[in-house]
Amino acid sequence: MIKTIFRNTILVGILVLAICSLLFYGLQYKQTINETFDELSLETSYAIPALERSGVEYLGSLGDENRVTWIGHDGTVLYDSEYENLSTDQSRYEEVADALKDGVGESMRKSDSSGVQTIYYARMLEDGTVLRLSRPLGAAWYALVAVSPVLWVLVLVLLLSGILAFRAAKQIVTPINNLDLDNHANNPYPELAPLLDKIQEQKMMIQEESSLREEMRREFSANVSHELKTPLTSISGFAELMATGNVSPDKVTEFSKDIYKESQRLISLINDIIKLSRLDENADLPPKEDVDLHELALGIADDLKPAAGKNNIYIDVTGDSVHISGVRQLLYEMVYNLCDNAIKYNYPGGKVTMETLRDNRNVKLVVSDTGIGIPKEHQKRIFERFYRVDRSHSKEIGGTGLGLSIVKHGAIYHDADVTVDSTPGKGTTITITFPGENAE
Ligand code: ADP
Repeated sequence: MIKTIFRNTILVGILVLAICSLLFYGLQYKQTINETFDELSLETSYAIPALERSGVEYLGSLGDENRVTWIGHDGTVLYDSEYENLSTDQSRYEEVADALKDGVGESMRKSDSSGVQTIYYARMLEDGTVLRLSRPLGAAWYALVAVSPVLWVLVLVLLLSGILAFRAAKQIVTPINNLDLDNHANNPYPELAPLLDKIQEQKMMIQEESSLREEMRREFSANVSHELKTPLTSISGFAELMATGNVSPDKVTEFSKDIYKESQRLISLINDIIKLSRLDENADLPPKEDVDLHELALGIADDLKPAAGKNNIYIDVTGDSVHISGVRQLLYEMVYNLCDNAIKYNYPGGKVTMETLRDNRNVKLVVSDTGIGIPKEHQKRIFERFYRVDRSHSKEIGGTGLGLSIVKHGAIYHDADVTVDSTPGKGTTITITFPGENAE
């Protein structure tokens, strides 16, 4: 930041100085040329009477700062202080032509003889000849060097502004670096107040998020241990009792059945964990194929009929045959879990409906039940791993607490959307919407 402020300030300084120097030297240059013309004019006015009086010897006695040329009225060179035997017709030059015509003439051009940019001034004598004085433009440039102290001043100003710019940049940045983000009262720049407020807001948000995440993590660990510990505690308890040898044979049969049930629960829990971790890694999934969701729902209804029958729950499959491209096994798991929940969390004699339909280009699978419903505050969390609305009844109802997580991950894998609509005591409707591009 210091570098940027410094660079920008110094750039502005250089730019301003460059513009000022250009203006100054431009004006100075113009003025020097005008002054040279004036000087040449003045010197000509002194030289002409002397030339008329003393003739060409006078010209030879003139100093060598200027080139002096005496030109006849026909343009021939009568005398030149620098070149002997110049045979060029001088009347073709602008200043000489003007002098021959109007009495005086001036011009600035490249000299044919020296090849140097030169300032010319010519004036006609009474006898019709012309006296021309000229001086190379380089002399005007030397005059500019005469004002070179100004240049040094500019360089000095530039150096000074560099030092000041660096100090100013440091003065701006240091308080920002020393800002106390927890205590805004010491903020030296009121302009930074909105930024500091935003930082404070974000800090609070991060703190809230991390404490929420920590709470969820703790809850998750507690849930996992609960799910694993409950069946294991039962198994260990029954086995311990049986090991005493004091259990009657019919109790042994009963305990063995319980041990079998709890082991099955553990096995299905581990299977669900394996399914989820495979989904997490997108690993080992069979390729997508054409799946008729209606047909799939009919098969699942058949598979779950015995479980539904235990509580007199009626399963209905309605709607049309709709095809999507998906992983059959995964889709089976998803719809099975939804239908299984609709049976598990239903009232005896209740109803479960699975409907497949097309909605514009999308394909929908809707599983609804007339069961216990899910209170609003739990609806968002039921897709979390091991989350259960009523943990106290989970043992008798069964399940692993992972069914809806598999539904959610399966939906993500198929780019589908899952929504929940539920009213406690009345029932639940869960809809999976497959996007048009997945529909066949
Ligand atoms: P579980 O194995 O416990 O059924 P899920 O992940 O399938 O685990 O469901 C999570 C929780 O969501 C369930 O424990 C239950 O409280 C609630 N739930 C899911 N489906 C329904 C439903 N159709 N009706 C009422 N509650 C449901």
